[in-house]
Amino acid sequence: MSDERDNDELEVLEGDEGAPEVGRHRDVGREMLETAVGELKRSAPVTVAPTATVARAAELMRKKKVGAVLVKKGRELVGIFTERDLVVRAMATRSWASAPVKKFMTPQPETLKLGDPIAYALNKMSVGRFRHVPLLDQGGGLVGIISIRDIVDFIVDLCPEEILNLPSQPELAIPHHPDGG
Ligand code: AMP
Repeated sequence: MSDERDNDELEVLEGDEGAPEVGRHRDVGREMLETAVGELKRSAPVTVAPTATVARAAELMRKKKVGAVLVKKGRELVGIFTERDLVVRAMATRSWASAPVKKFMTPQPETLKLGDPIAYALNKMSVGRFRHVPLLDQGGGLVGIISIRDIVDFIVDLCPEEILNLPSQPELAIPHHPDGG
């Protein structure tokens, strides 16, 4: 009896030595529902006025190494202008560099509050096909912006051994046989 149990334990251990399974130790889905977007490593928002030129917005994106600028009129968030808007909307027109950013921004972007679950950020990004979500505090003030990259980093932090210790090429991974065979 005890021999049988030892063999079973051995098989499980042997099975575990194969290709790593992402999220084996932590439930990624549940963590996303239980962790607030405010806990992500978010970036400080880079903002421009609606009348700022596209050239200025592009310069800020380059200098601050961000993929989006938020457009504010006074204290109010009125739009978002991203790399996609630069390439697809602005650069397809004449004299885009000197045109105001409000001409090409997406008005009234979708936002989340700091206490909202990360799962909602993914939901918005997936349904809306965008990669940025501005974050507001309880009073509705703009406090940051998260990008899909911040969520990727969150997932990697949940299971760093499984992801960061992978071999450089998938072909080099040891095949995983859950039945131990
Ligand atoms: P992105 O993938 O974030 O570069 O954005 C793709 C498109 O969606 C661009 O036209 C953006 O202006 C727009 N967009 C980005 N973020 C948001 C958001 N939070 N709400 C609505 N539209 C957005």
